[in-house]
Amino acid sequence: MEVIEHDVIVVGGGAAGIRAAIAAVEADPTISVAMVSKVYPMRSHTVSAEGGAAAVAREDDSLEMHGYDTVKGSDFLGDQHVIEYFVEEAPKELTLLEHWGCPWSRNEDGTVATRAFGGMTTKRTWFAADKVGFHMLHSLFQHSMRFERIVRYDEQFVTKLLVDDGVVRGVVALDIREGSVRAILGRAVILATGGAGKCFPFTTNGNIKTGDGMSLAYRAGVPLKDQEFVQYHPTGLPGTGILITEATRGEGGHLKNSEGERFLVDYDYGVGTKAELGPRDMISRAIIQEFRAGRGIKGPYGEFVHLDLTHLGEAKLKERLPFVLELARTYVGVDPVTQPIPIRPVVHYMMGGVDTDIDGATVLPGLYAAGEVACVSMNGANRLGSNSLTECLVFGARSGRCAVTFARGSSAGNEARMRQLAEEEAARLDTLRGKSKGGETISQVRREMQDAMEDGCGVYREQTSMDTACRNLAQLKGRFADLVLKDSSKVFNTELIAALELGNMLDVAESVAVSAAQRKESRGAHTRSDATTRDDQNWLHHTLCTFDPAGPRIEKKEVTLGHWEPEERKY
Ligand SMILES: Cc1cc2nc3c(=O)[nH]c(=O)nc-3n(C[C@H](O)[C@H](O)[C@H](O)COP(=O)(O)OP(=O)(O)OC[C@H]3O[C@@H](n4cnc5c(N)ncnc54)[C@H](O)[C@@H]3O)c2cc1C
Repeated sequence: MEVIEHDVIVVGGGAAGIRAAIAAVEADPTISVAMVSKVYPMRSHTVSAEGGAAAVAREDDSLEMHGYDTVKGSDFLGDQHVIEYFVEEAPKELTLLEHWGCPWSRNEDGTVATRAFGGMTTKRTWFAADKVGFHMLHSLFQHSMRFERIVRYDEQFVTKLLVDDGVVRGVVALDIREGSVRAILGRAVILATGGAGKCFPFTTNGNIKTGDGMSLAYRAGVPLKDQEFVQYHPTGLPGTGILITEATRGEGGHLKNSEGERFLVDYDYGVGTKAELGPRDMISRAIIQEFRAGRGIKGPYGEFVHLDLTHLGEAKLKERLPFVLELARTYVGVDPVTQPIPIRPVVHYMMGGVDTDIDGATVLPGLYAAGEVACVSMNGANRLGSNSLTECLVFGARSGRCAVTFARGSSAGNEARMRQLAEEEAARLDTLRGKSKGGETISQVRREMQDAMEDGCGVYREQTSMDTACRNLAQLKGRFADLVLKDSSKVFNTELIAALELGNMLDVAESVAVSAAQRKESRGAHTRSDATTRDDQNWLHHTLCTFDPAGPRIEKKEVTLGHWEPEERKY
């Protein structure tokens, strides 16, 4: 067994991971960082972000306004000290990214251009056409290459955290190309493994978003926080779930039902004026209500409504939304210049994740988390679009710096003990590879898990459907042990990877369902048809879900309030 040593290990090469790695090496000129990623970093899901990243840039905007919008967007479940730090750091991080090469789109006068996004009171979303994630990740990745002390381990799948004496000491990684297993030891580990949209059948998320980091932390005893809050994006393509960016609405697009009506003008988000610029949860619910009222359009992948951009004109579409033109033409055979695009709500983002404090630190000493895998509690019950790319930078950087401080004061741990734990993990992977005994297939268990999630924890939820999902998921976890795997080869054994990912998704899916079933109110993305109002008296707290072999354990955690008092969330 190969054992490698570094000071800090970052798991993940998306925006949060790369930003954390850069911050770590900049914080200490002597430290070495391992950046481990199951895909080549430029293939991380960050690359597919389209719309933009939020930060105050205009004179008519303020940190106070960005903070308030985020707190209100979170349905008052975001921790306000975290949000205050976030809005202060956001403009600095986006400017820094420009210095590293990110080509933000410009106004005529040379200032940074910003676009409107749902739930934001003014235009504060910075963009680089509609390929924002690509440009951001590219700038980060290129900048990271300046540092020899960031050592990359690409296409290495982390299967386990090495924990000894109650402190995290490293990770076990499976080399996807060779099938070999190695221990990478470090004095701090930062999880930056992204979200878990693939627990659901229709999602904008790439296939790699399987909640690995959430499961790694959960299995090591770290609670997952606010897992019940799953964001649906109102405009995904039916069938594939491919995202049509919110920027289409920011630029003036309209949603229309089967009768060709711009139905959102009739939906009142409290003050009834926002129409297409309402927040994602409310627009997703409005679309489902149109379906229920018989005003959806039927298609091979269920019902949909139309996103109409035809009135924006070809020139604007080409300049501002070129990627949308390409996606619609390629994947649904529709030309948005002359035809409306079919869309439906699809799972987009996990507000919940690994419970961390503002430093990204978890309850397990030495373990940090940042980006979509983490729940630092800035998104609360509902994230505002374009806040999360900035979140990856702000909290990636902070967790990188804090992990270095921790690593400096921590010992390396017992290498022999770590080697033994890693060898046990390698043996477990060996028994899984080509496992011939069993009657279940990966695809069947995965499909049933996804259906359980859509049926039980979709846009609208109720007690009976959530309880059914919990029961089904517990059963599926049992059936997972009975998987049969056909491929016993070591080289690029994608079947083994799919099995490991399915195991991780089952952990995450169950935590979502169990967290959802116990919250007896509606808040943000958690909308119950049998408990329709928000109940601050009893439910203004975070949910913690802790792994237990007997089934997930639920506890409460206090929300940090501040000068923004809870009020009704209206738009
Ligand atoms: C289609 C789409 C469009 C979006 N558009 C926007 C937008 O316009 N604005 C916005 O703010 N947000 C947007 N989001 C959300 C935002 O892009 C993501 O939340 C964010 O990019 C997540 O970044 P991350 O660094 O946390 O994780 P990711 O970019 O998902 O990276 C995860 C990394 O972890 C690695 N990894 C995972 N598991 C393992 C493992 N077991 N072992 C080793 N490595 C592992 C992966 O290889 C990858 O490098 C969008 C999301 C999607 C899906």
